[in-house]
Amino acid sequence: MSTDHTDADAAHAHGAPRPDQDDTITYYRAMEIAVRELLIDKGILTAGDVRRQVESMDARGPKGGAAMVARAWVDPAFKQRMLRDGSAAARELGLEIGPLRLIVVENTPEVHNVIVCTLCSCYPRMLLGLPPDWYKSRNYRSRTVREPRAVLAEFGTTIPADMRICVHDSTADMRYLVLPLRPQGTEHLSEAELANMVTRDSMIGVAVIEASRANRVSLAERNCSIGFNFRG
Ligand code: FE
Repeated sequence: MSTDHTDADAAHAHGAPRPDQDDTITYYRAMEIAVRELLIDKGILTAGDVRRQVESMDARGPKGGAAMVARAWVDPAFKQRMLRDGSAAARELGLEIGPLRLIVVENTPEVHNVIVCTLCSCYPRMLLGLPPDWYKSRNYRSRTVREPRAVLAEFGTTIPADMRICVHDSTADMRYLVLPLRPQGTEHLSEAELANMVTRDSMIGVAVIEASRANRVSLAERNCSIGFNFRG
């Protein structure tokens, strides 16, 4: 083992050490460990099953939601079914969303919808993947219901003053998905090409889809990769 690697070297190379985040056994962490170990002990699951499920949850992105939006844009009858019963419409496309009730809210030229979970982080994970960190932040959760227009402006999304903003508060058994407006000038695009334009943030409602962004990484996606910070 090398002895000439000092703490000062480490600080120089990596900056100040961060505190560990895995040293607190909270109530829910203890419960998760107990239930998992019991299920493995009783032969109901294996550790590999758990790992594979976590891997599949981590890998899930917004493709399912984007597929629903693109289908709704090209198929008016599907759109009506989706607005009536989001869960059934998801299953119609082969997307398994479990027992939760999915409500799809449609953006129109008069109304812009945005989703929040004021209590915690309820989110249509099966359709959008894991929620971004900012979605779980207290700032987003508290300010979106109080001053949605200001929060959206911080995402670079300016909603005209004469347009109404509807904020939807998710719960443990009821999730929302925004059906964004189809950008103008996309009539020639195929359903698959349309699906590629649909961003995660447009389905949360903090962004809108602009036709000119069709082949570019959206601002919202870049915000996601660098971490979005709200004003306090
Ligand atoms: Fe929640």
